Amino acid sequence: MSRTVVIAGGGPVGLMLACELGLAGVQSTVIERFAEPSGYSRSLTMHARTREVLEQRGMNQFSDFPPVFTYNFGLIELQDYVDDVSLLPLFVPQREIERLLEKRAIELGADIRRGQEVTGFEQDEDGVRVTVRPAQGSAYQIDCAYLAGCDGGSSLVRKQAGIAFPGTESTADGLTADVLTSEDEDLLIPPTLCQAGMYAAIPLRPGTYRVSVIEFGVPKTSKAVQPTVAEFQSRFRKCAGRDLSILATGEVRYLSRVGNATRLADRYRAGRVFIAGDACHVHLPISGQGLNTGVQDALNLGWKLAADINGWAPAGLLDTYHSERYPVGQRLCWSTRAQDGLLYPVDQVTPLRELFAELVRMEAVTGYLMNLLSGLSVRYAMDYPGQPSELAEHPLLGDRLPHVVLSTATGDLKVSETLQTGRAVLLLLGDHPAPDFLDAGWRDRVDVLRAAPTDEINARTVLVRPDGYVAHADPVGGRDETLRQALRTWFGEPSR
Ligand SMILES: Cc1cc2nc3c(=O)[nH]c(=O)nc-3n(C[C@H](O)[C@H](O)[C@H](O)COP(=O)(O)OP(=O)(O)OC[C@H]3O[C@@H](n4cnc5c(N)ncnc54)[C@H](O)[C@@H]3O)c2cc1C
Repeated sequence: MSRTVVIAGGGPVGLMLACELGLAGVQSTVIERFAEPSGYSRSLTMHARTREVLEQRGMNQFSDFPPVFTYNFGLIELQDYVDDVSLLPLFVPQREIERLLEKRAIELGADIRRGQEVTGFEQDEDGVRVTVRPAQGSAYQIDCAYLAGCDGGSSLVRKQAGIAFPGTESTADGLTADVLTSEDEDLLIPPTLCQAGMYAAIPLRPGTYRVSVIEFGVPKTSKAVQPTVAEFQSRFRKCAGRDLSILATGEVRYLSRVGNATRLADRYRAGRVFIAGDACHVHLPISGQGLNTGVQDALNLGWKLAADINGWAPAGLLDTYHSERYPVGQRLCWSTRAQDGLLYPVDQVTPLRELFAELVRMEAVTGYLMNLLSGLSVRYAMDYPGQPSELAEHPLLGDRLPHVVLSTATGDLKVSETLQTGRAVLLLLGDHPAPDFLDAGWRDRVDVLRAAPTDEINARTVLVRPDGYVAHADPVGGRDETLRQALRTWFGEPSR
């Protein structure tokens, strides 16, 4: 049986998945329709959890990037009220993330085939046969263990796998573009609400602006209708009550339509076929959510597929991809629809917006929203039968382990550094003995690290999954039966 994973789509999510598989020694083949990256960056934000995730894989290239110019919830400014600035997203164009992930995926052995398209597949219980059409020449087939559809909102993989994509139609019709201008403009139009909808013109770098206009309460124009600069100008005039001069004088690039259709795949798996990223969820692009959530989908899926291919996945592990990530997708759709509800009709929503603007000045509200939007509040269920309540209710259980600095016999080590191999880690914080059954059965899958106890982690024994989430946290150490259950649940039976 083939040990390869075919990934349809070489966007940020497909590339992240290729990195995760490569790290675990699994070969992937990424099929990407575009011969070259377009250079366009739809996403401009990198949230705190995505930064942590890249850091724990040794890709901490973005710490010097500036925070985003404005950050809001439903266009209600949050930025000014966030006490902990590390929660604010950074301004990182999507293309930068894709460039980094593509380079890393190739280093880790991924076979990236650009200018080729997945056109179909057949699966049985032993594998998947994927049909690929290159730009030139005849279609060919690849046999693989699993197919991952990271092929965006219109995902062919999702459709052919028979995965339903229920949700709401778009009730908004918008355009977005980057405008290059040599004029000495000092233009800044923050996202502004108006009777018809919303408009904005934000500098991306000197001489380049991201311009958007969106009308609410109207159906979205079909993608088949090519947008034009004249249409953009006319829509801008309708919303802002004036022309935008750079649309007339500048070079308009990547002109595309946007809407607020919100859809969530009803299952993330169909047999040997998985979907991730926009293939699972689409929504109004607001508060910088899609790419960031998709990267976390790939993080969750990667080590589980690799565990299966490497022969040690416990029964049911692959199904936890849906059970863990679908609820995250639900909250993503919920939070973007909630923001949508704060935008239109402007007369009706103004009192609600004013109330919300007062609420976000409260530290607890801002903190809640930033944790929600940044991905830091994601917590997975870790239920083990008979688990003592002291362990079941431990605040770290199911949460991501914060990237604190640990003091080890060989010097200081950040938690993120311990996760760079993509393997699970058992942290022993103190001098209590390591459980003897670990050496006998799980050391091939779980590393052990001893460090001094730290006030920042209220536990003596912590089992961390390869994705950085805590599968067991014991405040005193020595709860070996629950630890054994956690090891079995996530890493399978002991090898001896
Ligand atoms: C205007 C706008 C602004 C946004 N801003 C943000 C933001 O600030 N923050 C944020 O987090 N998100 C943002 N997003 C969302 C973000 O861009 C997407 O969530 C992200 O690109 C999804 O990544 P993906 O890899 O799942 O899909 P995509 O980026 O769509 O990549 C899918 C890839 O699959 C390829 N493909 C498709 N079909 C096939 C096939 N059959 N065979 C082979 N290849 C195929 C495509 O060519 C494409 O390269 C924004 C979106 C829009 C529209």
